[in-house]
Amino acid sequence: MHLLRGAVRTYAWGSRTAIAEFTGRPSPTDHPEAELWFGAHPGDPAYLQTADGEVSLLDTLREDPEGQLGVAVCNRYGDRLPFLLKVLAADEPLSLQAHPSAEQAREGFEREERAGIPVAGPTRNYRDPNHKPEILIAISDFHALAGFQPAARSVELMRELAVGDLDPYINLLAGQADADGLRALFTTWITAPQPDLDVLVPAVIEGAIQYLKSGRKTFAAEAKTVLELGERYPGDAGVLASLLLNRLTLRPGEAIYLPAGNLHAYLHGVGIEVMANSDNVLRGGLTPKHVDVPELLRVLDFTPATDEVLRPRVVQDGMEATYLTPAAEFAVSVLAIDGEHLGHEVDAPARQDGPQILLCAEGSVLVHSKTASVTLERGAAAWVPADDGPIRLVAERPSKLFRATVGGALS
Ligand SMILES: [Zn+2]
Repeated sequence: MHLLRGAVRTYAWGSRTAIAEFTGRPSPTDHPEAELWFGAHPGDPAYLQTADGEVSLLDTLREDPEGQLGVAVCNRYGDRLPFLLKVLAADEPLSLQAHPSAEQAREGFEREERAGIPVAGPTRNYRDPNHKPEILIAISDFHALAGFQPAARSVELMRELAVGDLDPYINLLAGQADADGLRALFTTWITAPQPDLDVLVPAVIEGAIQYLKSGRKTFAAEAKTVLELGERYPGDAGVLASLLLNRLTLRPGEAIYLPAGNLHAYLHGVGIEVMANSDNVLRGGLTPKHVDVPELLRVLDFTPATDEVLRPRVVQDGMEATYLTPAAEFAVSVLAIDGEHLGHEVDAPARQDGPQILLCAEGSVLVHSKTASVTLERGAAAWVPADDGPIRLVAERPSKLFRATVGGALS
């Protein structure tokens, strides 16, 4: 087991304070920090802090896959860590996006390979043949758009905005208030000529302003989102798409799971994200990056997403709360040490054969593995190789560790 130095990613939508404060560095930072990666992604691996200096986790896995990952994980994923854990801090909205299913990713990757589109090129959709399920667990209040909402609710929202230019679209959706109607309307907007959008989007923004001025509450969050998105992306169909999506506010500890085909955009907040190790993103707007509308439409799931789909069930087992998802690549839980456990060495519930990444979110925890001990302060992480578990924990004050492991049943 070693301390793990994560890789900071600076993107324009990041925060100059959140990640720095979480990891105890001076803030504000020179550049907005958007993500802190703990994993073995070839683009930006984390580094083990060893007695002989820093060693890339990626190199460590290549040198000793069975010791680090365990035989069962190696049998399934080779020398790759199948998940990536991130701290994500959004001060501004991220792009509207969806991720392909495993089958779509494999097919899309092969298709683009055959077409000779460079893997790192700006117009490449499928950079690897893998799907990318992801879960986000809020650390602060976290705001997001995720999944289509029931069509009837979008009809009601559009009616409340009282924008004459929306009438034909309200009629379209009211006339077919189901997944097919949502597909038809979303397709209409996302493929609309720019001059049409340049009329419709400002009209919707004006409707949202008037709605908020009137003091009405039912759709206040949705109206504010229209303003926020419209300010940064005037004339972008993504502003209209926000009228069709669930507008979620997660409290700290609450999570959303984003299966394949779920259209989503993170808006604001700090969270922990765990995902399958893939770069496959299909964007639908709210971004200066490549947007491939036909490909996005191929993968989108227009079935309204309910809370049961979006919000993972949490199962408590002693000190550990596990977020249940169907993802095979990862499992994520929170180990909370408080009350009677304080000041004592406690066994963390055992995990099946495989590696663990621990990230301290609160307090301070002394972690013992088979061969080593490290202290994790807030924002610090550790890598526990498969052959170095199980772990025991000691905390003097209430503390929380996120634990990411390989998911599914390993055998
Ligand atoms: Zn995503």
